[in-house]
Amino acid sequence: MPVMKFGGSSVADADKIRRVADIVIEKSEKESTVPVVVVSAMKGITDSLIGASEAALAGDAAYKAAVTTIRTRHAQALEELTTPGENREAVGLILKETEDELAEILHGVELVRECSPRTADLITGFGERLSSVLLAAHLRERGKTAEAVDARQIIRTDDTHGRAIVDFEATYPLIRARIGNPDIFYVVTGFIASTADGVATTLGRNGSDYTASILGAALESNAVEIWTDVDGVLTADPRIVDDAWVIPEISFQEAMELSFFGAEVIHPYTLVPVVEKGLPVVIKNTLNPSAPGTRICHDPKSVDRAITGIASIDDVAMVTVEGGGMVGMPGIAGKLFSSVASAGANIIMITQSSSEHSICMVFRRGDARKAAQAIRQNLADALASRMIRDVRIDEGLEMMAVIGENMRGQLGLSGKLFSALGDAGVNILAIAQGSTELNISFVIHGEQTKTAINAVHKAFIG
Ligand code: ASP
Ligand code: MG
Repeated sequence: MPVMKFGGSSVADADKIRRVADIVIEKSEKESTVPVVVVSAMKGITDSLIGASEAALAGDAAYKAAVTTIRTRHAQALEELTTPGENREAVGLILKETEDELAEILHGVELVRECSPRTADLITGFGERLSSVLLAAHLRERGKTAEAVDARQIIRTDDTHGRAIVDFEATYPLIRARIGNPDIFYVVTGFIASTADGVATTLGRNGSDYTASILGAALESNAVEIWTDVDGVLTADPRIVDDAWVIPEISFQEAMELSFFGAEVIHPYTLVPVVEKGLPVVIKNTLNPSAPGTRICHDPKSVDRAITGIASIDDVAMVTVEGGGMVGMPGIAGKLFSSVASAGANIIMITQSSSEHSICMVFRRGDARKAAQAIRQNLADALASRMIRDVRIDEGLEMMAVIGENMRGQLGLSGKLFSALGDAGVNILAIAQGSTELNISFVIHGEQTKTAINAVHKAFIG
């Protein structure tokens, strides 16, 4: 059975949910098999749950208004998606009980003025619990046997709240035991999971994609379809490149590189469970279901261009540590990176000149400041003795990466790449290429983003 995941914009309101039901039912009829459905929260709900918990924590009664809005949106959708009767009543009750529970928890946060990551995970997961129940109710209304499944029962994680790590060995048997009847439309909550002790966790923002691929891998599905609001994976960000186009097929490796680099089509972990099983992931557009989408698989049709796509991350910052005392000093990189890790900052790119005179690390902006501060603190001695001369932050930068299987072993590729950039007048601040040769990453000034991406797109992808 295929797994089909629908994102927040695909279940934003009753009309959209009806469209999801159309797509799911059509698929079941065409392929004579009932798909497993995974849903995100209705668009905006997760954000408003986060806002509500912050308000409650601050003792601001505004969280109550957020709960009221959540109640109204789901009640209204239920009204439009069901007819009066048993189904509507039973589901109305489930929604109400779930929302009451949410209100109580938020009230608790307000009273104790504390919202631990554990409590935050419990709160942010309510959106999926509500949306899954709604879609299942509507499928029953359309004459299908449908059941909402709370993924906390079937996905086991550790207790890293906010971005929990999945325990696949415990999870797969639970999924297979629960999702067993081939005639039932199971509608599973994306994003949420629980620890072995039953404490609620989440898989990280946009984690519903990941939920879908975990299910696909457990059930040995033939495909995992991610239904979103774009036509697929594009050659570049369409807000920057007017003639960016949808890539019909790409490899797992390329897709991973692209998603890690900010092409926000799928959650970066999505491909982890499916890659070893060779299970293809297909990106489809709910608003344009007839478009073929992008197929991510082991052996994509080969293309005759060197670069498959361009990814970019804006608002990055670079921390450069330089000084004569770093030359030939083993352990300095280790010290730097552990300082950065202790500050909880995530490095996106690293370069070191072979003179060893400087090491530079690229971060998202907030992380760069934390990292620089931690380095200054932990290496205070080296700074005082001038062994390290400077820890510098440059902000307002853009990180770009060109990605493609065909880049491997291509002579002259970087020459062509950098002359395209040079001809466009783009100044490059740092470059990195991994030994897989699948990706060349570089950092430029933020103002030159549009020029740079368009120049590379024109030169390689056209
Ligand atoms: N609702 C969650 C979020 O907004 C998960 C998801 O949409 O995939 O992050
Ligand atoms: Mg989402």
